[in-house]
Amino acid sequence: MSPKTQPSAAEALKQVTHLAAALKAPRISQAAARLAEHARDAGWTHEDYLAAILEREVAARNASGAQLRIRAAGFPAVKTLEDFDFDFQPTARTPLQALASGAWLTEHRNIVLLGPPGTGKTHLATALGVTAARQGHRVLFATATEWVARLGEAHDRGRLPAELTRLRRYGLIIVDEVGYLPFEQDAANLFFQLVSSRYEHASLVLTSNLPFSSWAGVFGDQVVAAAMIDRIVHHADVITLKGASYRLRDRGIDTLPSIKAEQGSID
Ligand code: ADP
Ligand code: MG
Repeated sequence: MSPKTQPSAAEALKQVTHLAAALKAPRISQAAARLAEHARDAGWTHEDYLAAILEREVAARNASGAQLRIRAAGFPAVKTLEDFDFDFQPTARTPLQALASGAWLTEHRNIVLLGPPGTGKTHLATALGVTAARQGHRVLFATATEWVARLGEAHDRGRLPAELTRLRRYGLIIVDEVGYLPFEQDAANLFFQLVSSRYEHASLVLTSNLPFSSWAGVFGDQVVAAAMIDRIVHHADVITLKGASYRLRDRGIDTLPSIKAEQGSID
């Protein structure tokens, strides 16, 4: 920077700081100051310089938006696809890699993760939710039992349709542990309404330790279960996880009778 241009450059940066504050974008003034000398040295055009500054602001806003969406989603713990050891679950690698682009969300497709306890269903459901949040989608995570309680409350206040409409503004709803507890008739109907209201409008991720053939027992009614599975699976990827619990790996207790029974039930 030549001594001659310094005072006016400093003056201009001061004005940038003021204007950036007015725009509630303080990072613009930081980037403007940080990049000015580099831009001059590297011979950037005015356009290059402006683009570089705005790009940093946009990247920072997207990152903080993603953080907010991840926090608001209510994940039991934040887990990512990068944390997942696909060597332990090799058949899931290709389908999960294909989902990382997020195209399934804009197509309003669903994903169903099936498998015995400890095989990574909640981990992968969360990881898909984190990816969706990073891609700009609003996400909500809860167990099937929690969803039913929440919808039941809305129903009791006469606000079920409004709640279902509100929930459609979320690009992704995750329902963990379908089938962990069987539903009463009312609960099954509420759950059916959730599935119907999202059908072809917005995505669902569901996890279950039961194969579809056992869902009639969960929903207490063959007809309701069949209608529900039909809507869920019509545009869905069904990914079946297999094997022993990751929680129990290396402990030599993956041959517990209960685990053998679970594995038998899903195959
Ligand atoms: P599930 O919901 O199928 O019962 P979880 O997703 O809760 O299983 O997995 C149990 C624990 O093991 C979690 O802490 C999860 O992060 C971890 N886990 C499971 N599978 C894997 C894997 N393949 N790689 C890394 N961590 C895993
Ligand atoms: Mg789980």
